[in-house]
Amino acid sequence: MDLVRFLVLKEEILRKIVSKLSSEDLKRSKKDYHAKRAPRPCGLTIHTGTGCSYCCVYCYIYDMGFNTKVSPYPLRGIELVAALLSNPYFIPTLNGTLLAFGSITEPFLPEIYERTLEYLQATYNYLQNPIQISTKASLTDEQIIRVSKVSPRISVLVTLITLKRFRELEPLAPHPLMRLKMASKMFKLGFHVSLFIRPLIPSVTDHEIQSIFETALSYGVKKAVLGSLRVTNRILRNLKSLGIDLSSRLSIRPEGKKQVPIRSSDIKSMIRKIANKLNIEIYPSACAANISAHRLGCAMCKLGPCGDINKLPHIDEFSIRELLRFMNIEFEQILLFDNKIRIKTKRRIRRDSLYYILSTLTKRAVYIY
Ligand code: SF4
Ligand code: SF4
Repeated sequence: MDLVRFLVLKEEILRKIVSKLSSEDLKRSKKDYHAKRAPRPCGLTIHTGTGCSYCCVYCYIYDMGFNTKVSPYPLRGIELVAALLSNPYFIPTLNGTLLAFGSITEPFLPEIYERTLEYLQATYNYLQNPIQISTKASLTDEQIIRVSKVSPRISVLVTLITLKRFRELEPLAPHPLMRLKMASKMFKLGFHVSLFIRPLIPSVTDHEIQSIFETALSYGVKKAVLGSLRVTNRILRNLKSLGIDLSSRLSIRPEGKKQVPIRSSDIKSMIRKIANKLNIEIYPSACAANISAHRLGCAMCKLGPCGDINKLPHIDEFSIRELLRFMNIEFEQILLFDNKIRIKTKRRIRRDSLYYILSTLTKRAVYIY
């Protein structure tokens, strides 16, 4: 695999984009969050807006300074693309960085829908990266068709954690059956659709899981991603007021707005067993659903390999050597073994950008020392 070609291509696309932007636009793009953040395990998060009016009781964005006022993200689509191409950790193309739309808003809220569509279109047109979107929305047929026209290959995660207590826990979100109806329509249009069982709420999601899976199957959804709950003090208190006491599942007590995880590995194992009996595929992580949706392979972490193992990029020492030269990094040794890449550099370097570029492109675990 010629690794250098991806960095050259990144520069070429950026040049093309820059010619379409004013210097003010470009300055704004380069200063933006998307130009700086390193990808998280699920990929690089794309913010299409801020705030959310669904008011989920377990939502942490209300502790991060966001509220129910919803605003589209300020960059235009082409400016978002410029920001991503200015990010030292980002690689374009299908082999590049996984992109995850969502996180600090619901990307299909009416106030944000057009901006989300604009970002899907711009990233698809200029970059072609694997895209995943998580949602609780219920779109109209026309809206779904518009999404399929601008970006046909998305991995869609439809969030559903309860069928019985949604009005208490997700007071203003669409009814779970409406979400599943949308999931079924998206599936028929060719999207890769998975149930997003996140956050797993002990004593709620686990008690309903059989019925959640059976209902999802009746709508044609046969794949799922599980995710744990993280709580702040406020979330813990609010859940307790609904009779959901999670104190015995905390390793440490949350202080203020700091998020702490709720232990749920036992619940996940139990859910996997039930899924297995029902022939539902459980992905080890959200990124695995994105990798599978785009018919890729990945062996970057110990949860994998994921997707199509035959699609793992071919790697060899020569191409890694060329990449290091291109990045002006002097090295002593390159070792390739068991889907891992180990590089000994001559001097201590800031490892971030090499680490992300190499692990993204090779889909292998990378160690630099
Ligand atoms: S839909 Fe997502 S972003 Fe909106 S309140 Fe619920 S958890 Fe938060
Ligand atoms: S191996 Fe699987 S879980 Fe790990 S980073 Fe790759 S896709 Fe994600």
